[in-house]
Amino acid sequence: MKHSSDICIVGAGISGLSCATYLLESPACRGLSLRIFDMQTEAGGRIRSKNLDGKAAIELGAGRYSPQLHPQFQSVMQSYSQRSERYPFTQLKFKNRVQQTLKSAMRELSPRLKEHGKESFLNFVSRYQGMDSAIGMIKSMGYDALFLPNISAEMAYDIVGKHPEIQSFTENDANQWFSAVDGFDGLIARMKDKVKAGGAKFSLGFRLASVERDQDGYRLALVGDDGWQLTHHARHLILAIPPSAMAGLNLDFPAAWGHSRYGSLPLFKGFLSYDEPWWRDYKLEDQVLIVDNPLRKVYFKGDKYVFFYTDSEMAAYWRACVADGEDGYLEQVRVHLAAALGIGAASIPQPSQHVHKYWAHGVEFCQDAAAADRPPALLNRDSGIIACSDAYTEHCGWMEGGLLSARAASALLLQRMAG
Ligand SMILES: Cc1cc2nc3c(=O)[nH]c(=O)nc-3n(C[C@H](O)[C@H](O)[C@H](O)COP(=O)(O)OP(=O)(O)OC[C@H]3O[C@@H](n4cnc5c(N)ncnc54)[C@H](O)[C@@H]3O)c2cc1C
Repeated sequence: MKHSSDICIVGAGISGLSCATYLLESPACRGLSLRIFDMQTEAGGRIRSKNLDGKAAIELGAGRYSPQLHPQFQSVMQSYSQRSERYPFTQLKFKNRVQQTLKSAMRELSPRLKEHGKESFLNFVSRYQGMDSAIGMIKSMGYDALFLPNISAEMAYDIVGKHPEIQSFTENDANQWFSAVDGFDGLIARMKDKVKAGGAKFSLGFRLASVERDQDGYRLALVGDDGWQLTHHARHLILAIPPSAMAGLNLDFPAAWGHSRYGSLPLFKGFLSYDEPWWRDYKLEDQVLIVDNPLRKVYFKGDKYVFFYTDSEMAAYWRACVADGEDGYLEQVRVHLAAALGIGAASIPQPSQHVHKYWAHGVEFCQDAAAADRPPALLNRDSGIIACSDAYTEHCGWMEGGLLSARAASALLLQRMAG
């Protein structure tokens, strides 16, 4: 392996691959060598598709997009000829008592945002509805991050309107949503092929441990899967890794990179497939339920499989459950599924296959409210290193943000090379 490159990108998620694509398309990069490192042995980062029971592609990470909210991502799907299908979970057909009145409650409170929109969502709703009712209302939305003290009422209204399962509690219910027929991994594979065809080299299974500056660029210390240590020299460097990973390097992040602070939340998804689609008896095909138990959001995908998706404390809950053993985990899922449907646990069969994934830093975000004023990619003026992540953009938590940040990061690099 040649241990140097003109341009080095660390991170082969959608952000890093997009940076590479933009740079390889630029005449300024013609003839320059480009190398991409990632600590995982596969590209894709938080995009991870799997096949469940040979029946369907499931998404352990990113799972859907909306053309209205994510136009860049839609155009990337089209340009790589990736097939999309309607994501069905955009209306709650089965609503509990609170969910039935949620849209009108949200509408009635929205004029108050002008005055108290900066308060936490919980305080804001409590102010007008009382604490108990506010807790019930926020719980019935299925995303526990909405309880966090740093999620203001303004932010919460925005979040609710931009998530398919709950968008209908706001006026945003016309947004369409799609998933990838063959999984978003298909897109990653095509992007990787294109970058390779453009001459870039991949070194997967290498974790960046530290970066030192020298007179001609950067010296990267990397550690391989097998503990093998590698030093790589790069003239230019983009770190397409999320803020939580930046904080683990010797780069004084975030203090030396601007005034913003960053946070992250854990996520957990559990998928189960069965010999028979038993949920058909309850007319649940393509329905999502939001429930007040640890499953939080339960999705019944056609007659193919069932999955649930949780964040924050409930993600930690399921992680602990799995750590105690798979059998106990499956029993917990069955008990909570039965409770959600109001049926006996014995009516729910054992799954034929199941998969789950806990993401310690599933969503990464900036703690400052005013996303529009912040640059979508960061440049450290002292070192000249560029950082790229969806977390820096107004689309934090979405693949769209990764694309926007990558465009900005590549433009910054091209400017530096020109100057
Ligand atoms: C459960 C879940 C559900 C989601 N749902 C959606 C959704 O429905 N729609 C949507 O648009 N988005 C969704 N997202 C968010 C989406 O996955 C991310 O916005 C997007 O994938 C981020 O891409 P990225 O390239 O910026 O970062 P990542 O995908 O995190 O890629 C960063 C890469 O950097 C590598 N890396 C990190 N540190 C180092 C290091 N020190 N050395 C070497 N390599 C390193 C990692 O291995 C990783 O491959 C979801 C995410 C999760 C986890």
